[in-house]
Amino acid sequence: MRRKVIAGNWKMNMLPNETIGYIESLSKLVKDTENEVILCVPYTDLFYALMTAQGTNIKIGAQNMHFEEKGAYTGEISAKMLKSINVEYVIIGHSERRQYFAETDETVNKKIKASFANGLNPILCVGETLEQRESALAEEVITKQTRLALDGLDDELIDKVIIAYEPIWAIGTGKTATSDDANNAIKSIRNEIRKLYGDKVADNIIIQYGGSVKSSNAKELFETSDIDGGLVGGASLVPEEFAKIVNFNN
Ligand code: PEP
Repeated sequence: MRRKVIAGNWKMNMLPNETIGYIESLSKLVKDTENEVILCVPYTDLFYALMTAQGTNIKIGAQNMHFEEKGAYTGEISAKMLKSINVEYVIIGHSERRQYFAETDETVNKKIKASFANGLNPILCVGETLEQRESALAEEVITKQTRLALDGLDDELIDKVIIAYEPIWAIGTGKTATSDDANNAIKSIRNEIRKLYGDKVADNIIIQYGGSVKSSNAKELFETSDIDGGLVGGASLVPEEFAKIVNFNN
């Protein structure tokens, strides 16, 4: 059986002192969970998050990285830099980065490869717009994004990628996909993986749902057949609320 992975995406929120207080609180609240807990924090909080999370079951991730290892890329951070301070995860291709920072399927693919080359575990985001959903294009869009993101990756690395299905219309809007819709979308991603890489990989790969997950809907979403946990934005900013999501099955 696949494990459940619950990751928080703080986006551009939280200062170092808030980070320390948050992780001290959260670690007490989630210490008994069997689920995997990840916090993806801003670059400026990474060091403090890593120090505070030492000895707990909370893993720390970044929210983006550049695909080159080093060089004249002012303002960017590489996978090697993240790994050098013991970051374990990195979100790649979040829709906000695709929308506001010109992230493409091609850069997403390069970033996935660079993350593995440096020992980081990528959390790959895919998802359709409302317009695409209303034109019945959702499945085509998310399977294509998945295919292109994983293109050329060594087969044995595919099921180490965590995929987050995040319909763009559900992110930060308070609108959650129904558990049936989210589960069906995730099944279509899993089927695409099955076609490309076979049963073992498809049955092992973790595929999360993201989009206005909160403690009141987490259980219904995460107990479906194919949703393996969530990527949580707004509701991850308060430790008590995020802990309830992590502990959805307790
Ligand atoms: C996200 O940022 O990945 C996200 C899903 O945000 P929210 O939970 O706020 O919709």
